[in-house]
Amino acid sequence: MKPVIALVGRPNVGKSTLFNRLTRSRDALVADLPGLTRDRHYGEGRVGERPFLVIDTGGFEPVAKDGIMHEMAKQTKQAVAEADVVIFIVDGRQGLTPHDKTITDFLRKSGRSVMLVVNKAEGMKYTSVASDFYELGLGDPYVISAAHGDGVADLVEESLNLAFAQRPVDDEIEESSSKGIKIAIVGRPNVGKSTLVNALLGEDRVIAFDMPGTTRDAIEIPFERDEKQYTLIDTAGIRRRGKVFEAIEKFSVVKTLQSISEANVVLLLLDAQQDISEQDAHIAGFVLESGRALVVGINKWDGLTADRRDEIKIDIERKLNFLFFAKFHFISALKVTGIGPLMKSIDAAYAAAMAKLSTPKLTRALIEAIEHQQPRRKGSIRPKMRYAHQGGQNPPIVVIHGNALEAIDANYRRYLEKHFRETFSLVGTPLRIELRSSK
Ligand code: GDP
Ligand code: GDP
Repeated sequence: MKPVIALVGRPNVGKSTLFNRLTRSRDALVADLPGLTRDRHYGEGRVGERPFLVIDTGGFEPVAKDGIMHEMAKQTKQAVAEADVVIFIVDGRQGLTPHDKTITDFLRKSGRSVMLVVNKAEGMKYTSVASDFYELGLGDPYVISAAHGDGVADLVEESLNLAFAQRPVDDEIEESSSKGIKIAIVGRPNVGKSTLVNALLGEDRVIAFDMPGTTRDAIEIPFERDEKQYTLIDTAGIRRRGKVFEAIEKFSVVKTLQSISEANVVLLLLDAQQDISEQDAHIAGFVLESGRALVVGINKWDGLTADRRDEIKIDIERKLNFLFFAKFHFISALKVTGIGPLMKSIDAAYAAAMAKLSTPKLTRALIEAIEHQQPRRKGSIRPKMRYAHQGGQNPPIVVIHGNALEAIDANYRRYLEKHFRETFSLVGTPLRIELRSSK
């Protein structure tokens, strides 16, 4: 499981600047699709081979009773409860403020590992920036400049070491025990996730796996259907956390992100009785960014009027058109209808995600695509694509080699993606195109 790092601090101390720096490298890989909703508060960073999740908590006003500030404080509390390490940022130019002390008290009660970070310290001496903040009692501060990047690499390295130091040692051994296709069921609260899990596994097994005392973070539940093996990823199981903030919310973005990244195929559930919400679109955006294979289940299809059925179809078409590559199924978890075809789509999506595409076949498909439609010139530059090979699975990555490929625009990329998708019948998985120019 990826470690979770939460960025906490007063407004304007530089949280989002640091967040962008930590997650930036990921952006280049992610498709820019019309309608795609991204949640800029959750991102993935990477140091070498080690991926981690970063949460940017908006701002923090612990005393607010209601309104937007209260809402933000609630979000921050949840982020802190779910983090392995909290990076608490203060402003080195402003010095210590009373508000910083309030946040410190809150963090201390949370029982989380906290790293105190003094930001905006470019061109300043360590001792003079740091001295102000010792009285918070959080140890030696890390002094950085998020804007310039000074000290950021060390900070991340240290925070990951701290996060891994807290992990149970048996984590890695357990990972390999799963069988078959790993499935994560995601969706906002009340769409019917638990009902569907019950339908797939049977009531008794769900209860058995939900027992307290389980120490592991991701619970993997094996099951069989039509003589095929699957494993359900359930991160909502009991996590060992500080006493103060246990089980704050029924829905957790962090757990959703973690189960997505542990899965081969994500089953996104929507509720046919409600319109597609912002939260649905956010979760769909997370799935897309992860590159996991995807099947969409539109649940609670039982007992709907024909009008409502048309309405929800139009709503989905309008708001989730960036999921064009996925199969949609109308199901009822309660009445257990539509599950068979849904599982077939999961098998197919997995097969597409794991497809092996040979260099000769990919190159032939590339040449076909070019013959049918050339990329446009950009000024006097004409991109020249030479050959393609597979750069990865789940999602499949097609790496195209050639010259001046930076001149290829988003439209042409989408055209190429569509062409590869059709040539190799890749339904249910995102497909990534990487362009590599040689000099
Ligand atoms: P947030 O509200 O905590 O997310 O803070 P932001 O990341 O939006 O930053 C607030 C302001 O501080 C912006 O104007 C940033 O450009 C500035 N800032 C952030 N990091 C640094 C830094 O390392 N040095 C300086 N001088 N300014 C910074
Ligand atoms: P979760 O929060 O996503 O796990 O949702 P639950 O499985 O707890 O379901 C929320 C509510 O929706 C419960 O009252 C379920 O009985 C109901 N529900 C779930 N699936 C269906 C369905 O297919 N049809 C109908 N009509 N209700 C459903």
